[in-house]
Amino acid sequence: MFGRAPRRSDNSKYYEVLGVSKSASQDELKKAYRKAAIRNHPDKGGDPEKFKELAQAYEVLSDPEKRETYDQYGEDALKEGMGSSGGGVHDHFDIFESFFGGGSFGGGGSRFRASRQKQGEDVVHTLRVSLEDLYNGTTKKLSLSRNRLCSKCNGKGSKSGASGRCYGCQGTGMRVTTRQIAPGMIQQMQHVCPECRGSGEVISERDRCSQCKGNKVSQEKKVLEVNVEKGMQHNQKIVFEGEADEAPDTITGDIVFVLQQKDHSKFKRKFDDLYMEHTLTLTEALCGFQFVLTHLDGRQLLIKSNPGEVIKPDQYKAINDEGMPSYGRPFIKGRLYIHFNVDFPESGVLSPETCRGIETILPARPGKSSSGMELDECEETTMHNVNIEEEMRRKEQQRQQEAYDSDDDEPNVHRVACNQQ
Ligand SMILES: [Zn+2]
Ligand SMILES: [Zn+2]
Repeated sequence: MFGRAPRRSDNSKYYEVLGVSKSASQDELKKAYRKAAIRNHPDKGGDPEKFKELAQAYEVLSDPEKRETYDQYGEDALKEGMGSSGGGVHDHFDIFESFFGGGSFGGGGSRFRASRQKQGEDVVHTLRVSLEDLYNGTTKKLSLSRNRLCSKCNGKGSKSGASGRCYGCQGTGMRVTTRQIAPGMIQQMQHVCPECRGSGEVISERDRCSQCKGNKVSQEKKVLEVNVEKGMQHNQKIVFEGEADEAPDTITGDIVFVLQQKDHSKFKRKFDDLYMEHTLTLTEALCGFQFVLTHLDGRQLLIKSNPGEVIKPDQYKAINDEGMPSYGRPFIKGRLYIHFNVDFPESGVLSPETCRGIETILPARPGKSSSGMELDECEETTMHNVNIEEEMRRKEQQRQQEAYDSDDDEPNVHRVACNQQ
């Protein structure tokens, strides 16, 4: 399509095509291309050849790296380079569409993509944190190694910015080998081209970038400071945008940390509230108690009952503002719930004398024949110890099994009913 171009290193034609000076800014280039492309668009009766030339010129000059190569080496150096990027001949309508945001011709869209890039993958790490970390906030320093585009060649892999199509795979990056495994039977196998390692392009030995040896990327160690803020939740994500592995023609993905809250020996967390268990002796439950609780930030809280207060087994009490700080508003805190258990004396511990002593203090037992009946007219009974939850579970299973069994009979009943009609 550039048959008219002379065989010398021409590096001014693209500027002439767009009608701008060699020192034109990106903004001037963009405006010039936009005007000329609208004027020459084939849909509006323009010359398709001229339109292609414009797009070609703009594609090169709008890319700082390509522009530099063009200024230094001319069009030929670029043709080699372009041949490698897969397509070879670009679809010039594509670039026009992307220039105008993919909308209808001449439409208002203005978002411009210099080249078609693929989206790089996000890298996800889990980050285990303690409840103390989430209560107080903390910064974790994590050392990661990741690929960065080579700073010397800007990810081109070559000194000139050019690369050639791999002969081993014709630029596809894959090679197909066939072998005969039996007479008349041929097995075909596809594998990554060993010469270009799947990139489809080769860079000549002497043109290879000295820093990355033609690999385009180099490994870099980086320390990321992950700021765990007060009140963050289990499974909350902390995102470092564009910090994942870099690759040529790829929008770099994110590094994502997903918080994993470790179990705590004392507290359980539900949203911004904390829950803890505390066991009292029977004496404490009846006569009052106090104990010291070390909170997640090291403060010592004195927790005590009110005078004359009796705590019953399974009772809850709550302390305001001693739960977790709420994320984004750390001065607002949830509640701390205390679930009380009461340790009763084991059977056989209390002697008859002790019981008589207790009876003198606590309310007296009901009269021995409270029902008004003579006791020897009543039937004797025996009480067994039961695990009531297990009993309920077993009864529920039994009930379901019976319901399932009776389901089997139903179709027969139904069929009889139909036959009678
Ligand atoms: Zn290859
Ligand atoms: Zn390099």
